[in-house]
Amino acid sequence: MALLIKNARVFAPKDLGVKDVLMAGEQILAVGENLAPNLPDLETIDAKGMILTPGFFDQHIHVTGGGGEGGPATRTPEIVLSELIACGTTSVVGVSGTDFTTRSIPNLLAKVRALKAEGVSAWMYTSNYRCPPTLLTDSIGNDLFFVPEVLGVKIALGDHRSSFPDTQTVMSILADIRVGAMLAGKIGFLHIHTGNIPGSFDIYKEIVGRGFPIRHIRPTHCGRIRHVFDSAVEFALAGGWIDITTGASCCFDHPARAVVEALEAGVDPTHITLSTDGHGSVPRFNEKGEMIGLGVGGVEGNLKEVKRLIAEFGMPIEKAITFISSNVAQALGLPGQGVVEKGACANACLFTEDLELKGVVSRGRVMMRDGEIIVKGTFEY
Ligand SMILES: [Zn+2]
Repeated sequence: MALLIKNARVFAPKDLGVKDVLMAGEQILAVGENLAPNLPDLETIDAKGMILTPGFFDQHIHVTGGGGEGGPATRTPEIVLSELIACGTTSVVGVSGTDFTTRSIPNLLAKVRALKAEGVSAWMYTSNYRCPPTLLTDSIGNDLFFVPEVLGVKIALGDHRSSFPDTQTVMSILADIRVGAMLAGKIGFLHIHTGNIPGSFDIYKEIVGRGFPIRHIRPTHCGRIRHVFDSAVEFALAGGWIDITTGASCCFDHPARAVVEALEAGVDPTHITLSTDGHGSVPRFNEKGEMIGLGVGGVEGNLKEVKRLIAEFGMPIEKAITFISSNVAQALGLPGQGVVEKGACANACLFTEDLELKGVVSRGRVMMRDGEIIVKGTFEY
């Protein structure tokens, strides 16, 4: 099956002007002008007047559901495919959260594989908030080596739900990730849920100061509270990557403002990413740490905040979309993702000029056409 999208204004994310994009199988074969391939079963979409971007990449999303902090009735539901397609998300990294009892890591792997079978690209982090990490095998290295979907390990730091590991423990986990990933031919990341309690960035500072490469340390929820944001900016100025949550955990009036402030502080734009925290619960605690309410995190936050960067902050489209496409893919060392170029994974979004999402292609398959989702998940009717 081949697909030719003609006459779209292509943002790769770089603005390439009006181009045709040819896809076949799961790859982009060509991006050029007046492409006229002679292929059997070629479907052509005329996208004149439309904007084409990469498919979007959400690197912190609770695909199996999260929550549970208020007992069994507060466990959030699993994600279904159409929720992702509805906001142009074609690539995800699934994570676990607080619940280490009822949310197993094999269950997360099964859901990641189910989403792949349904048509998107998906990876995961082993473990959850706990330390020592909850693994699929007997070691971090084996998880990285034997499971292609595993990009690294998740923990929580500075959160009242975390295990409060000390610096040496965090460094040992990082060392296991680094060496395990070397053997597996990956980069290997420690993806860190950052809570409100100060100190986690001091741990990174000490570890990096002792000579450990900063690229393996990946804090998220970096906009959640002012002191975390300020430490995150400092961490990014020292060469680190920071992830800002768009669905919850943000102390700014909008997450887009956190991006703008980080840029104004001089952070390398390619070291900033956005993720939704979709389908996590959004618990609210009082000052005693008691939960007083909760909701389910949406998965549309990334697209919403990128639109805000463009509409309210006047950011060019080609820059605004990097935070949910190429930056994420580059940061994770997944070169075929988050870009529209020859040889890349055949993902794309089509928008009207006023940025209304009308089309989504994931791994070469049209998932949304004329604003209608045409490929649904297994149990969506
Ligand atoms: Zn989360």
